[in-house]
Amino acid sequence: MDKSLLKIAYSPEGFRKRGHELVDQLADHLDATLNGKSKKVINWNLPEDEYAFWNGFLENGESSQLFTEIVKRTTHVHNPKYIGHQVSPAAPLASLGGLISSLLNNGMAVYEMGMAPSAIERVITEFICSKIGYDEQSRGFLTSGGTLANLTALLTARKVKVEHDIWNDGHQESLGIMVYEEAHYCVDRAARIMGLGDKGVIKIPASSSYNMDVSQLEEHYQKAQKEGIHVFAIVGSAPSTATGMYDDLLAIADFSMKHNLWFHIDGAHGGASIFSPKYKHTVKGIDRADSVVIDGHKMMMMPIITTALLYKNGNHSHSTFSQKADYLLQQSEDEDWYNYAKRTFECTKTMMSIQWFTLLKTYGEGIFNEYVTTLYDLGHQFGELILANPQFELAIKPMSNIVCFRYIDDILNNIELNELNATIRQQLLEEGEYYIVQTKVNGVHYLRTTIMNPFTTSEHLEQLLEIIKGIALTLKS
Ligand SMILES: *Cc1c(COP(=O)(O)O)cnc(C)c1O
Repeated sequence: MDKSLLKIAYSPEGFRKRGHELVDQLADHLDATLNGKSKKVINWNLPEDEYAFWNGFLENGESSQLFTEIVKRTTHVHNPKYIGHQVSPAAPLASLGGLISSLLNNGMAVYEMGMAPSAIERVITEFICSKIGYDEQSRGFLTSGGTLANLTALLTARKVKVEHDIWNDGHQESLGIMVYEEAHYCVDRAARIMGLGDKGVIKIPASSSYNMDVSQLEEHYQKAQKEGIHVFAIVGSAPSTATGMYDDLLAIADFSMKHNLWFHIDGAHGGASIFSPKYKHTVKGIDRADSVVIDGHKMMMMPIITTALLYKNGNHSHSTFSQKADYLLQQSEDEDWYNYAKRTFECTKTMMSIQWFTLLKTYGEGIFNEYVTTLYDLGHQFGELILANPQFELAIKPMSNIVCFRYIDDILNNIELNELNATIRQQLLEEGEYYIVQTKVNGVHYLRTTIMNPFTTSEHLEQLLEIIKGIALTLKS
């Protein structure tokens, strides 16, 4: 077989040249976006048009233009006017860590295939555990996303809290978990994947402050018991995705103790507030959780995907996928921590500990405090700005960097306001100067912003409100 293509594909000099070009290009992109030189956050295209472009590109496109076109045709999260979904503008150095992982390509399932990143993973997860306030019994690992981490934690919960041997014998009774009705959809999905069914997801309604109404926990628990559902876990949101409000974790911790439930915290977004002395109070009680999820790619400046799953009792993390029913009793002290696939859902995974370590080693943990505190401060400022503006209504006073609001007008009813706000958001998307998203809570259509870029300023936020007002005026006329 002629290997000429393979030789080109693996040419070190080719890589060097293309790599340097790409880094230069991305550095220019950072300069243009971070420093406000590029006009748009997104060059919006209809999905069909985008598809047609790439279909054509595969046939006739100029290879040398590939990376340029990708940059042009994606959403620029480093632009301070990107105030939409909850992914962080990746810290450039952390993304270089991702490059190492992509090239060295160690699979991480067993220690030999990733010695350094496996050991680093232990260092990193021990560090996060100590910030949570866990003791030496704690342990964790990194895994591919908050969604998978929540599922994994609930699988551990079921293994630990349910007495019969589901792993070998399947379900023998109706099982259930409790969660806030507006929690991230992946918790509901995890429960259904686990075979709990609709009735096994006991959804606790919202309080007036848009978080889990903990005063209803006992009543829902008793009702489930009466229906023959064995509740084994409760999930707290820190915060919930839609509105950014934290659940009362202390109340949930008390409740879980009372009924011997596994207490899991979905801190995919805001678990990172453990790094902010100013906002740490939002996760009061986090050290009482049996397991905690924190996404590196949300409030910790890291590239996608860099999720941490931490366990208060590290031995539990070894039981999730264990065949042995009596595993916990036989647990030895020195269970191998370094063969990660025994504990993770994945077999092969990326060397994601490198991104964490790179940031921590280079800048120290203070960088995480600066990031979280800056963004939460901005969230509060934006809330004040909206409150002071009679043309807008705030869904709720923000607890984080997630802020939901809507444009209002006395002469319009709720249905008309919903339509108006949805149209405003679509127009913002198509204009592309700012990028925000939307959500529906209790039937009300809100514009939803997550301030993810620490270089977004209150001037940007004021300008966004002015632009929205302008759009609303033209739509109404
Ligand atoms: C983003 C998010 C998730 C999902 O995490 P992924 O990393 O996107 O899979 C789960 N829960 C909450 C609260 C989130 O904000």
